[in-house]
Amino acid sequence: MDKRRFIKLSAITVTGLAINPFYACNPAEKEAAIGEGKEVMPAFTKRTEAFKLPDLGYPVEALEPNIDKMTMEIHHGKHHAGYVRKLNAAVADNQFKEMPLLDILSNVTDTDTAVRNNGGGHYNHSLYWDIIAPNAGGEPDGKLLEAINGAFKSFEEFKNTFSTAAKTRFGSGWAWLSVDDGGKLFVSSTANQDNPLMKNIVEQNGRPILGIDVWEHAYYLNYQNKRGDYIANFFNVIDWKKVLGNYISIVG
Ligand code: MN
Repeated sequence: MDKRRFIKLSAITVTGLAINPFYACNPAEKEAAIGEGKEVMPAFTKRTEAFKLPDLGYPVEALEPNIDKMTMEIHHGKHHAGYVRKLNAAVADNQFKEMPLLDILSNVTDTDTAVRNNGGGHYNHSLYWDIIAPNAGGEPDGKLLEAINGAFKSFEEFKNTFSTAAKTRFGSGWAWLSVDDGGKLFVSSTANQDNPLMKNIVEQNGRPILGIDVWEHAYYLNYQNKRGDYIANFFNVIDWKKVLGNYISIVG
């Protein structure tokens, strides 16, 4: 990791209530180590609080007609709340006890089933609520649009690639737009509550900046079996300013 990217990653902070469950590092120690030319592993801040359900940041009905009120109520208030409750139970008495969420996801293996499912569930939904908003949609701009054009040739091509990944995920899972270790964008999809942060579990690793939940609980009340319509309308609520912010927080 080069110095600039390293410092950018170090600058990403978190509070217990932050929507994006990123973590804080110790910048002074990092700077000193970099100054000595050392390659250092991030010194993660220990987590001292239980995980909490983040606030939505908008009313449950605000995304209608694209995502209906009852789906939002149940999805956030029941499903996501359940992942948070079960995650806290799953990390209460093991090596994950004091780890921040990103550290948990980087280290989790396929033998830690409850941590994998509920840690993924908490991270994935926290990102999802944060990158959708009322009065959003449209197209990205700035550095993100440049990067999308570079990786996918055009926004339309990106949209097709992302939508196809979401449509063709068999059963429950997610489709992602992520940044790989080289700073390049890629689209992938993962099963269940897995995500690209799970280095020991998924094939394509990176930092997600946008994700769509294609579990039936995310759309079935309003769209029934029409997953494709939900995916098309999801583009009406993507908050590209947030996605751009996520991108810049990673690549600078
Ligand atoms: Mn969900």
